[in-house]
Amino acid sequence: MKEQIVEKIRNAGVVGAGGAGLPTHVKANATVDTVLVNGASCEPLLSSDPHLMETEIDTMIRGLHAVMDCTGASKGIICLKGKHAAAMASVREAVSRDTTGRLEAFELKDFYPAGDEHVLVHEVLGKTVPEGGIPLAIGAVVSNVETFCNIAAAMDDKPVTHRYLTVTGEVGQHMVVKVPVGTMVADVLAHAGGATISDYKVVDGGPMMGRVLPDTARPVTKTTSGLIVLPPDHTVVARKIMDPDRVRRITTSICCQCTHCTDLCPRNLLGHSLHPHKLMRIFDGLMSDELIVETAKEALLCSECGVCEKFACPMMVSPREVNAQIKKIMRQQGVRWESDGSEPVTNPFRSDRFVPTSRLIQRLNLTKYDTHPAYAGEFVPDRVTIPLAQHIGAPAQCRVAVGETVSAGDLIGEIPEKAMGARVHASINGTVESVADGMVVIRSC
Ligand code: SF4
Ligand code: SF4
Repeated sequence: MKEQIVEKIRNAGVVGAGGAGLPTHVKANATVDTVLVNGASCEPLLSSDPHLMETEIDTMIRGLHAVMDCTGASKGIICLKGKHAAAMASVREAVSRDTTGRLEAFELKDFYPAGDEHVLVHEVLGKTVPEGGIPLAIGAVVSNVETFCNIAAAMDDKPVTHRYLTVTGEVGQHMVVKVPVGTMVADVLAHAGGATISDYKVVDGGPMMGRVLPDTARPVTKTTSGLIVLPPDHTVVARKIMDPDRVRRITTSICCQCTHCTDLCPRNLLGHSLHPHKLMRIFDGLMSDELIVETAKEALLCSECGVCEKFACPMMVSPREVNAQIKKIMRQQGVRWESDGSEPVTNPFRSDRFVPTSRLIQRLNLTKYDTHPAYAGEFVPDRVTIPLAQHIGAPAQCRVAVGETVSAGDLIGEIPEKAMGARVHASINGTVESVADGMVVIRSC
C-alpha cells in the first residue's frame, strides 16, 4: 500500500503547500508514529487554512488517513488555534465522527510562530527535534492543511491544479480565493477590486516570512499562501526591500548586544545552540577567525521566523537578515550543522516568552487589515503562466509544445530522471501559447 500511495502523491505533483515546496512523496515515503496536520496558520492575516478546516474537513481527513496508512502512523493529530472557532468546531466534530480512533484535535495557544515545525512538535508531542534536524527524527511527519487536501485528491488521481490564498491589505475587497496555479498576481488583485493606493508593494506569503514581489507580473504557485498589498514604507515591507548589504551594515553597527533577540528566539527557547546576538558580532572585526567559524555555524539553525527582527530588537535592526546572509555563505562553503549529540534543554521560561499574535499584529501596524476575510469562491482567469519550478528540487521538464491543446489536470512537466522534483499539470483547459524561461503559458479556449 505504501508504494501505491507514494506513487499517487508523486503523480499528482503534490508539494508542501505551507512552506518551500518539498515534494510530498519524499516526505510520505517514511515510517513514523505520528502525523501532524499543521493548521496553526500562525502568520498574521492569512486565513485560507482555517477556511479549509471549516469547509473541507472531510477531504483533509481523508488525506491525513492516506498519509497515516502510508507512513504506518498510529496517530494523526490536527493542530489549530482555538481562536478559529468555526474551524475548531468542524475539526472536533469530524474527529468525534471518525471510527478509526486514530485521530485527535489539539488546540494551540495563539502565539507566533506556533506553526514552525519544531515549535509545533514541541507543543503537541512534548519532544524537541534535534538541532538541524526535521520532525522525522522524533518519529513525526508534519504537513500543512492544504497539502492534506491535495493528497486526498491525489488518491482519486486528481493532480494539484489550484491554490487557496488570502488577498488582503490595500485592496478593494479582502478575501480568501481559489485560483488556478499560474494565475497572475495582477489578475488576482484586479479580481479583489484592485489596489486602493497608487504606490504599493505586494508581499507573497505572510508578513513575517513572505517576500516582496518585484512586480505583479508573477504567477501564483503551489506555495503561494497570501498576497498582501501594502505601502512601500510600511513596517512589514521597508526592511524586506532594503539593499541586503545596507541591512547588514546597519544591523551589525547599531546592535547594542542587549540579547533580546536571543531571549525571544523560538529556536533558542527550545534549547538549540542559536544565539542571534552573537551572530551580530561576526562582522565587527573583533572576533578571531576560529571563533567566527564556530559562531557562524549557528546561523544554520535559524528558521528565519523574524521574531528577532520584527518583535524583539529594540534597535529596530535585522538579525534575521544577517543570519540569512551568513547561512547562505555557510551553505555555499558546504558547511553543515554537526550536532554534538547532546539533548537540547528547553528554556524554563519558554512559555512566558511566547509572542502573542495580537501584539505582533499591533507591532507590525497591521491591525486595520486583520479582517478575517470570507471565502469569495473560485476565480478563473483567461490565461495562466505555470512555472516548471515551484518546489524544492530539479525543475520539471516540459512535456507540451506550443499550439497543443490541454485540459486542466494534464501533465505538462515531468520530474527529470533520477532527480528529486515534482510534476506540474495544466490548471485550465486551453491552448499552450508559449513555453519559455521555465514557464508554460496556457490561454483558455
Ligand atoms: S529569525 Fe531570529 S528569532 Fe527566528 S529563528 Fe532566526 S534568530 Fe531566532
Ligand atoms: S536585539 Fe537587536 S540590538 Fe539587541 S542584541 Fe539583538 S540585534 Fe543586537
